[in-house]
Amino acid sequence: MHDEFKTLRKFDAGKGREGFLYSLPALEEQRIGNISRLPVSIRIVLESVLRNCDGKKVRRKDVETLANWNAKAPANAEIPFVVARIVLQDFTGVPLIVDLAAMRSAVARLGRDPKIIEPLVPVDLVVDHSVQVDFFRSPRALELNLDMEFKRNRERYQFLKWGQQAFKTFQLIPPGIGIVHQVNLEYLAKGVLSSQPSTLNSQLFFPDTLVGTDSHTTMINGLGVVGWGVGGIEAEAGMLGQPVYFLTPEVVGLHMSGQLREGVTATDLVLHITQLLRAQKVVGKFVEFYGEGAASLPVPDRATIGNMSPEYGATMGFFPIDQESVDYLRATGRSEEQCLAFENYFCAQRMFGMPLRGEIDYSVDIDLDLADVQPSVAGPKRPQDRINLPELGKTFRELLEKPVRDGGYGKQNVDLREKHVVELNGSAPRNGEMASTDKKEDQGINPGDELNKIEMVANRPTPDPGKEIEAESREIFAQGRTHVGHGSVLIAAITSCTNTSNPSVMIAAGLLAKKAVERGLHVDPGVKTSLAPGSRVVSDYLEKTGLQKYLDQLGFNLVGYGCTTCIGNSGPLHPNIEKAIHDYDLVAASVLSGNRNFEARVHQHIKANFLMSPPLVVAFALAGRVHIDLSRDALARDKDGKETFLRDLWPTLSEIRDAMQSALAPETFRKLYRNFADQNPKWNDIPSSAGDIYQWDEKSDYIHEPPFFQNFSMEPSHIAEIRGARALGIFGDSITTDHISPAGAIKETSPAGKYLVSRGIQPRDFNSYGSRRGNDLVMTRGTFANVRIKNLMVPGTEGGVTKYYGGGDDSSPKGQHGEGAASTMSIFDAAMKYAETNTALVILAGHEYGSGSSRDWAAKGTRLLGVKAVIAASYERIHRSNLVGMGVLPLQFPDGTTAQSLGLDGSEEFSITGLSDSIKPGQEVTLVIESRNREQQSVPVRLRIDTPIEIDYYRHGGILPFVLRQLLLRQ
Ligand code: SF4
Repeated sequence: MHDEFKTLRKFDAGKGREGFLYSLPALEEQRIGNISRLPVSIRIVLESVLRNCDGKKVRRKDVETLANWNAKAPANAEIPFVVARIVLQDFTGVPLIVDLAAMRSAVARLGRDPKIIEPLVPVDLVVDHSVQVDFFRSPRALELNLDMEFKRNRERYQFLKWGQQAFKTFQLIPPGIGIVHQVNLEYLAKGVLSSQPSTLNSQLFFPDTLVGTDSHTTMINGLGVVGWGVGGIEAEAGMLGQPVYFLTPEVVGLHMSGQLREGVTATDLVLHITQLLRAQKVVGKFVEFYGEGAASLPVPDRATIGNMSPEYGATMGFFPIDQESVDYLRATGRSEEQCLAFENYFCAQRMFGMPLRGEIDYSVDIDLDLADVQPSVAGPKRPQDRINLPELGKTFRELLEKPVRDGGYGKQNVDLREKHVVELNGSAPRNGEMASTDKKEDQGINPGDELNKIEMVANRPTPDPGKEIEAESREIFAQGRTHVGHGSVLIAAITSCTNTSNPSVMIAAGLLAKKAVERGLHVDPGVKTSLAPGSRVVSDYLEKTGLQKYLDQLGFNLVGYGCTTCIGNSGPLHPNIEKAIHDYDLVAASVLSGNRNFEARVHQHIKANFLMSPPLVVAFALAGRVHIDLSRDALARDKDGKETFLRDLWPTLSEIRDAMQSALAPETFRKLYRNFADQNPKWNDIPSSAGDIYQWDEKSDYIHEPPFFQNFSMEPSHIAEIRGARALGIFGDSITTDHISPAGAIKETSPAGKYLVSRGIQPRDFNSYGSRRGNDLVMTRGTFANVRIKNLMVPGTEGGVTKYYGGGDDSSPKGQHGEGAASTMSIFDAAMKYAETNTALVILAGHEYGSGSSRDWAAKGTRLLGVKAVIAASYERIHRSNLVGMGVLPLQFPDGTTAQSLGLDGSEEFSITGLSDSIKPGQEVTLVIESRNREQQSVPVRLRIDTPIEIDYYRHGGILPFVLRQLLLRQ
């Protein structure tokens, strides 16, 4: 216990309990900063800095600097933020536990006690990212998808079970329970935590704070909990007792007034805010919502808004704590003791209640009248590209013909009435498989029908008999015939914690489905419909309200409790549909209630992806196309042939409110959030190994000991200049972490696919990259392997290819790697060839490099390919820090300079001079470029090592060796 500022005070924790807290009002009384005017989010971080101030890890100066936070000019200082807990999902959590296991192995090899590697704060891992939509439109879809999930992920789950018994502070929530952020909101978050220090006679209370390894960790900001997404590497450091360091942020105050209008959903609101804040450039900043409008929003709406902070670019989208926050804890079954402690704690800290205009100093002030928000969708490629609902059809038509370089699809003379008939003969789609025949024939169509130009894709032969699951899928896959063309909706997914945690939009989807069924409407069999709630609470209220049966009748059967389409696990389309998309180069569409729609994220064959509210997902599934104005055009004909419009189906606010009465019953939460393992017998059937050290199994293709600690020594090496490097890739703007390290399907012809085949694994058992993140051998091969990534070194191509310049070419500059003509090959193969000659590699990129999910493999894979530096026009926050965390140098071009403006084509040699042990954060170094004809140019570039601690990380070769050396030194 430390009390450097003598601020430890008693307070009434409720129910006759006395508690202690580190008092911010007591700090303010010492005239250390105008604390009561600080944004609430900053005050919560300040409490952590104050409580953990020990003079070493956290210094007095850190407290004083943050307490004196200046809204208009925040100090250029890093804040050592010790969080109270960590949350993980399985895609990022497995590699993190693999790293901990590898650290234990390394410590054991050094002859030391492996148990020094142990999480020092509570860690919760929710297995939610692995379920894929293989089965849908069936009452058995949930059960069959779970079967597939367990079959595919058995090795990973065995490993996690080992982790559960090896690490004391690690809680695992098995598959089939829910999505990490929804589980966090509904169950894990406590609002305020407590511990029992040996020197106090009562408990010490402190705010619930966390970091998580999914960028949408910010969803919990809706409950007034400070937390955000970090890379697995930073989370690992946090678990091992390191503070999470971040630069003192600006805080944008978004003042909300007014009320949402009838017909406008929380999803419309978050899409509006995403567009508004993207334009305000809030990257690296906190956003704090306040005012009467914010106070009027229930916590699920606030959580929806917090969820999408990565999409608007902010570190957090925070709502201060008020009565609404406490009521939510109560409504979700948290104990009365917990609720009272939460309320009393924040009252005692004078942080309770939604601030009003003028009460707090913000860096930037923005106003939003909630009444201005309109029904919208966002897409087709970026979440910030909001489109008012009536304009979607027009926008889609324009984008179809717009040149690719301007963000369009480059189609010429499109006739949107042209459709292709696809027979759905019940054959089972299989991963990576396409229909093999292409017979065309005319179909008779009613005059005036939109479908007046028809071709037919004939039946695909039925799949191998005798396979139980495929046989099931033959029963389940829709029979019949569909028509596909540009703009056809082929995936309609009610997915993602962004919306499934919000009863108002889920119930609205159910009510819309009810009205549609009552009018005799149906969804075309070509649309892959799915419903994947973020917790079983949703199913409980959809059943209680009787709405699930209407969703079922439209094909929105429950497919699983997990991320599904939101993470790209939308599963295969019918092979004949995939074939038609391929053969006719169709720009087909998905509609989903998710938060991201980057190219190839939702499905490799779907190019136009629109984010929208769950009721709109159902409406577009009924309409079957996105080139429609739903405010004016009929979406279908009812059973009497009468046109049905969206306004005929849309539920009123009072209908939603009435149905919601039963949505948040505390008893339901208490019943469903306990004894997780017992609620999933499949989990209990997974065998688990025991022991402190993991016994690595060379036969496993899911779990493999990573090479990060091979040849580990206690002495870090010196920082040296990089000489004679080659470009592995030159990329344009907005390269996402999914481009760098895809999470979805593994192509058979990709380096990872070939590797798996060489290990005797059939393509249908490849599973996804996300599920193989415990295996560096697959993930390194998968780095830069996204099928849509465009390496400008090989113009006109897509996918992970590059030019290798190490083979000898008289006109190339001399280098240690020899000379030779360039040959085109996969990025992985080129990297391995360069490794043979110890040639350093660099990546050149445009703006917003590494945007998207917090994906540590995007940095780990880069490192394992041998990339020493990335030089980009700008970076997204987490990926930049992950690069440093893996010992890869991020450098930034001066404004206006890019690889293109320098005329680079990748044939050059690169050196980075000015690097030494005495480098400083943000300093300038020099990029020296030598062209084929031996001409040199020097470009000043900025080190994007932003903080002093990052210099240490870089010098040690990354955070993990740094932390390991610290732990070993402490012993
Ligand atoms: S549903 Fe989407 S946002 Fe939520 S945890 Fe899963 S992948 Fe992340």
